[in-house]
Amino acid sequence: MTDCLFCKIIAGDIPSTKVFEDDLIYVFKDINPKASVHILVIPKQHIARLDHANTEHADLLAHMMLSLPNLAKSQGLDDGFRTIINTGPGGGQEVDHLHIHILGGSHMPGFN
Ligand code: 5GP
Ligand code: ZN
Repeated sequence: MTDCLFCKIIAGDIPSTKVFEDDLIYVFKDINPKASVHILVIPKQHIARLDHANTEHADLLAHMMLSLPNLAKSQGLDDGFRTIINTGPGGGQEVDHLHIHILGGSHMPGFN
């Protein structure tokens, strides 16, 4: 039994609003959205943070990256979108399961 919040979401033990899933990734709405569209893209495999990934994860990471444009478009973000990966305490990461934020639409926070 894992203590990881996002692994529990993938398993369905904690409810989430699913946007998409395939064999490798699960995508769901952020519970505390920072913009009108704010979704999280996570690997089904538990990788705690980006700096724990290695070349064995290359195909998975490429799949995540290459999925982002279509996922953004599926949420109506036709003009573009912002992606964020927070890594470790120094990067403000709060959940220790690798995730890519996709943000866009109205109410986009400033970057500075
Ligand atoms: P981090 O700061 O680790 O990059 O981002 C973690 C994100 O996960 C935050 O934006 C936070 O709102 C979101 N989050 C935390 N707990 C939950 C939850 O239980 N469900 C969902 N859908 N999002 C969560
Ligand atoms: Zn996990």
